[in-house]
Amino acid sequence: MQATLRYYGDPILRKICRPVTVITNEIRQLTQSMIALMDKHDGVGLAAPQVGHDIRLFVLRNYIDLENDQWKLSEPRVYINPKLSFPRKKQVEEEEGCLSIPKLLYKIVRADFVVIEALDLNGNPFTEKMDGYNARVRMHENDHLNGVLFIDHLDVKTRREIKPLLKEIKKKYHLNKDIAAVKRLSLGRRS
Ligand SMILES: [Zn+2]
Repeated sequence: MQATLRYYGDPILRKICRPVTVITNEIRQLTQSMIALMDKHDGVGLAAPQVGHDIRLFVLRNYIDLENDQWKLSEPRVYINPKLSFPRKKQVEEEEGCLSIPKLLYKIVRADFVVIEALDLNGNPFTEKMDGYNARVRMHENDHLNGVLFIDHLDVKTRREIKPLLKEIKKKYHLNKDIAAVKRLSLGRRS
């Protein structure tokens, strides 16, 4: 299974992903490619649809706090068919970005605590409880499996403001060639 980064405007980022039924060698290889790609782009999480596969799977690394405000990243972890639940009400606002929407960073309100159940690469179920930014990464990646992007959580006004930036991203990654061609035509007619 190939893993190339997909960008905003690619229809796969809006798909509801399918559960993984069998953890094949291809899936194991895919997770290795995803981890490599995530690290290459300095990301801390990456979901399967972001590399062109509509399956319920993501990879991430945890932030580990060290002394003196330093931190490091954990070993990579794989989540297959994850289920999230939110037993606490507290919400927090933090800056977020996405490898599929380069350079856009916005503050997003999310739950501060999450319980996540998933399967590991051997098909064994596990449960984690996470708070802070590590909880946020899990929610962000899980959103990807439901065709939801972090910018969808922004208020209406901000979403309107970022429209031109999103258009630029689409243009840059050549995803709206057709739209661009139509625009050029209509501009030509006007002038
Ligand atoms: Zn993302």
